[in-house]
Amino acid sequence: MMAKQEQVFEIAIVGRVTWNLHSLNNEGTIGNVTEPRTVVLWDGTKTDGVSGEMMKHIHAFWTWLQAKENNLPLCFACQSFQPQRADAASHDLPRDRGQEANALTQVLERCVLCDLHGFLVQRPTIHRQSTVEFGWVVGVQEQIHRDLHIHARHAMGLQGTEQEGSAGEEEVSGEEVRQAQPEVTAQMLYHRPTRSGVYAFVTLFQAWRIGLNEVNYTYALNDENDRKKRYELALTAYEWTFKRPDGAMTATRLPHIEGAEGLVLVAKTAVPVPLLSPLREDYRQQLRDLAQKQGVEVCEFDDLVKLTEILSELRQLNPFKLSVASQ
Ligand SMILES: [Zn+2]
Repeated sequence: MMAKQEQVFEIAIVGRVTWNLHSLNNEGTIGNVTEPRTVVLWDGTKTDGVSGEMMKHIHAFWTWLQAKENNLPLCFACQSFQPQRADAASHDLPRDRGQEANALTQVLERCVLCDLHGFLVQRPTIHRQSTVEFGWVVGVQEQIHRDLHIHARHAMGLQGTEQEGSAGEEEVSGEEVRQAQPEVTAQMLYHRPTRSGVYAFVTLFQAWRIGLNEVNYTYALNDENDRKKRYELALTAYEWTFKRPDGAMTATRLPHIEGAEGLVLVAKTAVPVPLLSPLREDYRQQLRDLAQKQGVEVCEFDDLVKLTEILSELRQLNPFKLSVASQ
């Protein structure tokens, strides 16, 4: 049996990433203009951001890839990474009132992704809060730059195509566009954002909730090894999310990743890890102090290599199990 101190209750990763020339997340496209995400802070400061939804999607995708490749259980919907998850694979769940706990146990047993990333099933009505949570990735004040670039796609005597990466696509200045016009029979101009900056991020992984049925507070997985495998998957997915944040527009705006720095906070007993935004310049010192008072361990990283090492070490440990919960 594993010693109690080798168990991981919660892990938080907080810090700053430096991403250049990306457009990982956008408000949407109106006409031919794609708008970057803008967020407003408490004091009215407008800044650049990448949503928690996008970050969670990236983490979920890297989780899915590992589950698929390692033949770990995935429900019918998650086999093909459908966003509805358990709700699209609920036809054989018990639907009677009072059967919610049984239904939830079935979902947790049969799907790694539904367990780790949560879902909402409409009938029977069962809901699972994700074990992996992300806040907005948000631009640090005065360390953000945004540009709106004009691009043109044109065709010689042919209809222009809206397909990305089509022949005849190039970035041109306004002047060049006018010069090019006499030879061009079809042309489409469009505006695409490009952003660079230092971004603050916060994310929390509640390892203790892996496989936990939160209708009756029992663990749905009988084998602790199964919980451990899911725990490892989530940590590896974190590693890949920071190394490869594959969000939007990576076809033409694959981010130039310059660096990452921050803290990994690890609670090995049933206490919540403290959270504080890396928007604060003193977040490291403050969090170290808070963590120390709660008996939470802190590992610092100043590059992706160190973060990878910390996550590899954490993978050797085991997810915490509530001692009062039975199987
Ligand atoms: Zn699923």
